[in-house]
Amino acid sequence: MDDLRELYQQLILDHNHSPKNYRIMLEPDLQAEGHNPLCGDKVEIYLKLDNKDNIVDISFYGSGCAISKASSSIMTTILKGKKKSEAKEIFSDFRNLIMKGKSNRKLPEKLNMLSGVHKFPSRVKCALLSWHAMIQGLDNSSEIVNTEHEKW
Ligand code: ZN
Repeated sequence: MDDLRELYQQLILDHNHSPKNYRIMLEPDLQAEGHNPLCGDKVEIYLKLDNKDNIVDISFYGSGCAISKASSSIMTTILKGKKKSEAKEIFSDFRNLIMKGKSNRKLPEKLNMLSGVHKFPSRVKCALLSWHAMIQGLDNSSEIVNTEHEKW
């Protein structure tokens, strides 16, 4: 279990104890909610876009395990300032990284830090929850993302 401990230490140090963009956003343009009943993670994602579809602000709020919180925190720091289309591309690469341990394209170092999650299938949903919610938000769907109800 050394790998898991290493993974946790890095994540906890960097983002769990002091998550970035951890706040409820007043008057977001888009928002979405995700639930992971298996672990108990609940997250809300808030997005603000300009008229060119750039993500000018993104934040998250909720309760969850270290992996879900760290993944949400890292996601917000990476997607702020990105275009909607870029956010979707990064999501699909990140999804590959988390499910298979590698992605086709080079991802920001902060995301590669989470690649170890693929060795722990029960944590995959924790790492992807806020990302799925973010996509749901960008698609302007009011449906709550639930890890038990969807194909992952
Ligand atoms: Zn979790």
